[in-house]
Amino acid sequence: FSGQSKPDISREKSTQLYEKAKQYFPGGVNSPVRAFKSVHGVPLFIEKGDGCLIWDADGNEFIDFCCSWGPLILGHNNEKVRESVTAALQNGLSFGAPTALENELAELILKNNRFIEKIRFVSSGTEAVMSAIRLARGYTNKDKIIKFEGCYHGHSDSLLVKAGSGLVTFGETSSAGVPKSFAEETIVIPLNDRKAVEEAFSQFKDQVAAVIIEGIPANNGLLIQEKEYVHFLREITQQNNALLIFDEVITGFRLGFEGAAAYYDVQPDIITYGKIIGGGMPVGAYGASNEIMSRISPDGNVYQAGTLSGNPIAMAAGIAQLSVLKSGVYKSLNSKALAFVEALQRYVSAKNYKVKIFSAGSIFWIAFTDKEHIRAASEIDPQSMEKYKVMHRELLNRGIYFGPSGYEVGFVSNAHTKTDLEKAKRAIFESLEVVFRNGN
Ligand code: PLP
Repeated sequence: FSGQSKPDISREKSTQLYEKAKQYFPGGVNSPVRAFKSVHGVPLFIEKGDGCLIWDADGNEFIDFCCSWGPLILGHNNEKVRESVTAALQNGLSFGAPTALENELAELILKNNRFIEKIRFVSSGTEAVMSAIRLARGYTNKDKIIKFEGCYHGHSDSLLVKAGSGLVTFGETSSAGVPKSFAEETIVIPLNDRKAVEEAFSQFKDQVAAVIIEGIPANNGLLIQEKEYVHFLREITQQNNALLIFDEVITGFRLGFEGAAAYYDVQPDIITYGKIIGGGMPVGAYGASNEIMSRISPDGNVYQAGTLSGNPIAMAAGIAQLSVLKSGVYKSLNSKALAFVEALQRYVSAKNYKVKIFSAGSIFWIAFTDKEHIRAASEIDPQSMEKYKVMHRELLNRGIYFGPSGYEVGFVSNAHTKTDLEKAKRAIFESLEVVFRNGN
């Protein structure tokens, strides 16, 4: 390869749409991660998707590795999902009353998941985690939550908290508008640090309701935790009568039908889901044992509700997507993703690039590092994001769409064929040549 930059794709229509959007929405977007703040150019406005491909308003075609940030494990516009949604649409959009579709999706999940006995559907991952935290507090009669630096759990007040300055301190708000007193209920500690967890439990003895961790932390790079550490979290929470919450909004139905709980062979007390469970529609869910779930209203005194919860169209999308997954997709998907990642790793190693590709199932993260493992947020070099920025631009110019930040992971979907992955690999090789053309 030549190590030459490719000319920029046309973003004329996207630019016009973005200019208009800026008049209507803060920053021109309805979710900040879409804004291309840390990469080159204006956000691409997407017109349609099919399989692993998306097309923007200027007609540029991309192989998509963002996949709507994870939900589209079968790719865009999957026929089974589309048919199921179309059928449900004929009967109306929402009733605010129970429907059989809710039972159907719940049955599909609960009969094939050893880790939860009862489930409650909500409308987003944020809502699922917010509700799980309330449930943990209601169940234990304690207030404090331990969360980890580098884990994202949605934008509810208790969870928009970053680490304070000591090893174990009260958290500090990471957003304006979160009361300091709320943040004080959240203790933020580094990942992969047993001592910090032990210290938090001794410093806040009998005050901790729950420890929350992402199934595999995948919102600040891919911070794969060791099995022993996850089991340590299970033991220390049990010893302190605190609950262990697995936030599986990304990993649920992604690593396998039973998500990270099965991956680590650990029984969390509460598990939250989102993304894949709704097949691309707005859905979240949380589940636990019958005993813990009995505390949720109307059975119990922990209140949680939703006008559109269990929405029939969303249920129909989830039923179709999870049915396909259950019929056996993971083995071939995960091995396809692994072959892709291994080929990338072989290439960067042969070139002596400071690059490591971390992966779990069909989730991958290209990190500009020479570390063998990255298990905590502080181990990521912020300077390396400059390299991602160059790679992102080169990839777009070669028809490959990655999330617009080097801290975001990529997803391989079942719709990515070997040919697509071959094409993507070549584009990644070429883009890395540009990134490293002046040395490492
Ligand atoms: N939890 C995790 C692990 C997530 O990755 C996300 C979103 O990316 C959320 C919670 C919040 O989900 P949502 O964006 O659907 O509110």
